[in-house]
Amino acid sequence: MLYGALETSGTKMFCAVGNEAGQIVDQMKIPTTTPNETMPKVIEYFKSKIDPSLSDDEKISALGVACFGPVDLREGSKTYGSILNTPKVAWRNYPMLKTLQEALNIPVAIDLDVNVALLGETTWGTAKDLTDAVYVTIGNGIGMGAISAGEPVHGMLHPEAGHIRMQIIPGDDYKGSCPSHGACFEGMASGVAIAERWGKEAKDLLDKPEVWELEAKYIAQALYAIILTLSPQKIILGGGVTSNAQLFPMIRKNVVEYINDYIDTKELRNINSYITPSALNGNQGVMGAIKLAEMSMLEE
Ligand code: ZN
Repeated sequence: MLYGALETSGTKMFCAVGNEAGQIVDQMKIPTTTPNETMPKVIEYFKSKIDPSLSDDEKISALGVACFGPVDLREGSKTYGSILNTPKVAWRNYPMLKTLQEALNIPVAIDLDVNVALLGETTWGTAKDLTDAVYVTIGNGIGMGAISAGEPVHGMLHPEAGHIRMQIIPGDDYKGSCPSHGACFEGMASGVAIAERWGKEAKDLLDKPEVWELEAKYIAQALYAIILTLSPQKIILGGGVTSNAQLFPMIRKNVVEYINDYIDTKELRNINSYITPSALNGNQGVMGAIKLAEMSMLEE
């Protein structure tokens, strides 16, 4: 059976078709501008995958959407599946789920982008078959998806661990880039914060170990809080900033130091496999969306 998958982001809409093995058989990327300009192209792509001229096994039977946040995921809410108060102003209050359901008339399921990426990882990736894991993406923004007891965590909205408060590392006089909190995790450790603090993009600072040592300390502070509160069996790090592989050993070392032997588990004793990069080559979001579509079919 084929499923549609849509991963939305501030830069592009990753539209794809995949099967129950998570294989992507067709894909198209559409630049994200405004809903009026972008969404008709997204809908046109998925409409072509349910066209009456196709045979049943060539058509997608459901669509999964990995949506950037904040997004309303409260069951029974009038605005369920709508984008909320995002800094991407044109998309505020945009009814993502409703628009796609009405245009396509097939089952459509939606979740937060980081939760869906994690679903890809727990289905086919580095957290395969784990019931409790987190996915932290560190790029120009920072977000966290969590699966607890096998289910994506939503609660009153969804976790916002990208905005955990940071303890300032001595010697760092950068005030933080977050408009709401200044020196929160995103404010101190996002790609934007790196560029503002050091006056250069992260990709142009790879030969400066002091940049990455400081970065690793802030990331480790957040991971430490996440380990203590959610007790994940694995932490997966994604996003542009973590594409710098030299960060991983530094992050792991700081996390071990902060925990200070207080927790003794086989996961923490194997810290190299506990804190890991994604295993799905940037396709974790769209693969998770394929799984989300399949799950929505099973529920129907
Ligand atoms: Zn913040």
